[in-house]
Amino acid sequence: MFYLAKNNEKNAKNKQQLKQETIRRQIRKRQRKRKFNKAMDRLAAVLVLGCFFAAVGYPVAKGMVSIKSLTGEEPVGEVKMTDDSNLAATEPVTEPVKNYKTITVENDKVFKGEMILVNENYPFKNSQDADIVTLYDEKNESYSVSGMEIGLQSEAVEPLNDMLADFYEETGHSDILIVAGFRTLEQQQALYDEDLERTGLDISTLVALPGHSEHESGYAVDFSLFFDDGTSGDYDGTGDYEWIDEHCSDYGYILRYPANKTEITKIQYESWHYRYIGRPHAYYIMQSGICYEEYIDGLKNYSADTPLEIVDSDGKAYAVYYVPAETEKSVTYVPLISDKPYTISGNNSDGFIITIDLQETRELVSYTTPVEEITGITTDEYGNVVTTSEVDSSSTETTTTVFAVG
Ligand SMILES: [Zn+2]
Repeated sequence: MFYLAKNNEKNAKNKQQLKQETIRRQIRKRQRKRKFNKAMDRLAAVLVLGCFFAAVGYPVAKGMVSIKSLTGEEPVGEVKMTDDSNLAATEPVTEPVKNYKTITVENDKVFKGEMILVNENYPFKNSQDADIVTLYDEKNESYSVSGMEIGLQSEAVEPLNDMLADFYEETGHSDILIVAGFRTLEQQQALYDEDLERTGLDISTLVALPGHSEHESGYAVDFSLFFDDGTSGDYDGTGDYEWIDEHCSDYGYILRYPANKTEITKIQYESWHYRYIGRPHAYYIMQSGICYEEYIDGLKNYSADTPLEIVDSDGKAYAVYYVPAETEKSVTYVPLISDKPYTISGNNSDGFIITIDLQETRELVSYTTPVEEITGITTDEYGNVVTTSEVDSSSTETTTTVFAVG
């Protein structure tokens, strides 16, 4: 069952040494890469800031946003991507170019991409297009997998490898064991049926309804622990393992089901379940303490005209905005507000999230948690979670089904 290099007692010592050497090599390689990247970032920062002050003299902080604007109020700091500033009013009028260009996106792509929200309300609909690779083939030596078949979406693998190699570097632990990744609908159904059989109930309170597990997207992993002495343990994210929650967003991962968000996620606290969504988004979520449902909902306040600017832990700036799918047509015209590199992902319900790498550096931003502003939780007529800026204690008393997917 376990395909682990460490099972053979006889060769354990040699293998352990080999493994440590391999990890050290990987770490050295990454450190060199990082040093280079940091130097380049610094150079870019100096150039950007120099030009910025010389040309405009605006405070660097312009364009920063607070979490306040995610709760439905007017965005606090807009990212000005074009030259349509107030200065234009006194100048000879040239119609500002609002968008760099518009691209056409097929509406069935609403259900594709690394940012799809899969939960009780939004099933995973896109199994045929998954680009799943097996971790056993792609992993490094800083963690283990519980079976050769465990797979993950390809773009989530390298960030996972980097995260767990850095975790090993920081803590010396190489005992994280991946026990779940991609699951087919059939596998989820089998897990569900097994649980019903075990409990004798009609509905599982432990396993997500088939079609509604994030594991079916291939963007989620479950951690456990497997120690050198052959024993195993639960991954509870405490002690040395707190490093993971503190740093996972630097690799594009979030702790998907936090303890304080079960009313919204409808899933019990899962210390072991991580979801890949991409770096700037993960950073915003883990910093501000909101959950993924709140983030996806909040992004609807940001359009191409008023995008959300996110500055990640390296000071890299991104513009993020939502474009609703034009459901009466088969395609949606998506405005791009810059010629910089971008990604588009569906949100798995009604639109697209556009992320533009502004290729600029800013001062670090601290996204804080406005707990009092995200207290009121209601659902609309479709059963979707709506976050409000008013505290409404009655709306939090709705009965919720808390179940697990792990
Ligand atoms: Zn899980």
